[in-house]
Amino acid sequence: MTLICRLTTLILLAAFTATVATAEKTASVDFNNAGVQAYNQGEYDTAIGYFERAQKGDADQEVVRRNLCNAHQSLANELAKKGDYHGAVHHADSAATLDQKNMSPLVQAGSYYLRLDEVNLAIERLEKAITVKPGELTAHEMLGYAYYRDNDLSSARAQWDYVLEMDPKRPELRERYDKAFREQSVENDFDRYKSRHFQVSYPPEIPNELRAQVIGILDRAYVEIGRDFGGVYPPPPVHVILYDAKQFAEATNTAAYVGALYDGKIRSPLADANGNWLPVDEIRRRLTHEYVHVVVKHITGGEPPWWVNEGLAETLSRTLDADRTKALQKLYREGTPATLASLESTRIGKLDKDAIGQAYIQSHATVDLLWSRYGKGKMVLLLEAVGRGENIEDALRDVYRKTRAGIEVDVARNYG
Ligand SMILES: [Zn+2]
Repeated sequence: MTLICRLTTLILLAAFTATVATAEKTASVDFNNAGVQAYNQGEYDTAIGYFERAQKGDADQEVVRRNLCNAHQSLANELAKKGDYHGAVHHADSAATLDQKNMSPLVQAGSYYLRLDEVNLAIERLEKAITVKPGELTAHEMLGYAYYRDNDLSSARAQWDYVLEMDPKRPELRERYDKAFREQSVENDFDRYKSRHFQVSYPPEIPNELRAQVIGILDRAYVEIGRDFGGVYPPPPVHVILYDAKQFAEATNTAAYVGALYDGKIRSPLADANGNWLPVDEIRRRLTHEYVHVVVKHITGGEPPWWVNEGLAETLSRTLDADRTKALQKLYREGTPATLASLESTRIGKLDKDAIGQAYIQSHATVDLLWSRYGKGKMVLLLEAVGRGENIEDALRDVYRKTRAGIEVDVARNYG
């Protein structure tokens, strides 16, 4: 979700300047005016420095405070555009503290916290936003989404019902609403189990022993995948929803070959279409794969190119065993491997099952090569660069000194 940031126009200070006289007052006003000038040139950091200095003097403090608040908000907006949500949220929070009657920095902070998966902090900001300005539909909609992310579907519904009542023409919200309540109809009587890092919802039929195994798999993924990325631990709780095969299909509306998915919550069936529990190794592979997506999203704040995301999830959840290696050799010797560029915009569901299988295995081989040849540190750098909004070709060149075409040649050489 992107935030529409409505900044109030910065107040210019001509009349204000004319009313001050003493040297001390002039210094404070000068700082304020220098801040306005920097702001107008888009130098928000510099502007903040000036406005802060203008706070110690006789300049109209109400004006200075509002200017400082605007500068923090504009800098936050700029940082968020670059994908730096940590920096962005710091400035949005500063703006909210400066102007407590202003709803807009609270909504801004709420949206950034959601991007950082800090759902509880997002809820706190957004609840405050609708207290400051009840009826602001963007804030209510976003708060509904934050509740949804927290798996509090009934609170989410209350917010969204209100928004849709006020403005029925919100197609994106309608879609999200329908998805949430398709899920709710399946998950209504699910039990919940909370561990330190995960909140797991599951149908009551799941045997206790299997549930305990699943929690063990998740806790281990938390430690091992976090360590693989050099110490990346998303804030708790990560929501995990377990289903049987029919419930999974109903709740997620996906094709039969989708084994599990992550859409902000990890969703995975534990049984096959015949009702048999899946082997524990298979459950481990699927949950670990999805947990890699959680960590990748936490690093990038969004979605990296498809082959990077899926290639990482595969590399860290399964080995390139003899069967997969054989399939890759066949592909690179006799078949038509896809270009990496074409694997960037791939949307699951648009390809047929075989093409998807090939896309996964190629992505696996490519990331496996980058990971084993150049190490995990470089991969983290790549994800961070993509998270800052760098395009993948530039990011690969910066981090690996390689182009996509160069990497394609290396992978082909491995299997050709
Ligand atoms: Zn995946």
